[in-house]
Amino acid sequence: MSHSYFTRKLLNIKDKNITFSEDYLEEVKLNGITSFIFKGILTYQPTHCQKCGTLFDSKFKKHGFKTSRIVIPKVSLHDTYLDLKKQRYYCGHCQSTFTLSTSIVEKNCYISYHTKHAIALEAKIKFLNVISHVAIRSLIQPSIESSIAFMNLKP
Ligand SMILES: [Zn+2]
Repeated sequence: MSHSYFTRKLLNIKDKNITFSEDYLEEVKLNGITSFIFKGILTYQPTHCQKCGTLFDSKFKKHGFKTSRIVIPKVSLHDTYLDLKKQRYYCGHCQSTFTLSTSIVEKNCYISYHTKHAIALEAKIKFLNVISHVAIRSLIQPSIESSIAFMNLKP
């Protein structure tokens, strides 16, 4: 198994078109906070042009890369990002260019689905903690008051 395979496993990335080169991980300070940046490459042969819909043929040419920084779930409690180099293509039929897309993010979005899910889960856990705290307080409260009342009865 390649290190790309293990990195995808670690980051929970299902898209096999994303690979990681040798120096794929960098530890940097962003706004004074130690953060991890994973560097991935997205490349595959598109089935058709995203602009005109023409099926892939010899008139399609690779046209450099576009890098986006995507927020992904924390690794070892560090803010973690994926710098994803996405392959661009030129379509000779409509003379336009387009960037390959991946299933880990919505188009033009820089927060991964997993991060959105983690944020929603964290909010839910915080909410449940508050609710259970309130519930426990309301259960304990009467017993504390009754034991104080009981103590006050003692001579
Ligand atoms: Zn086209």
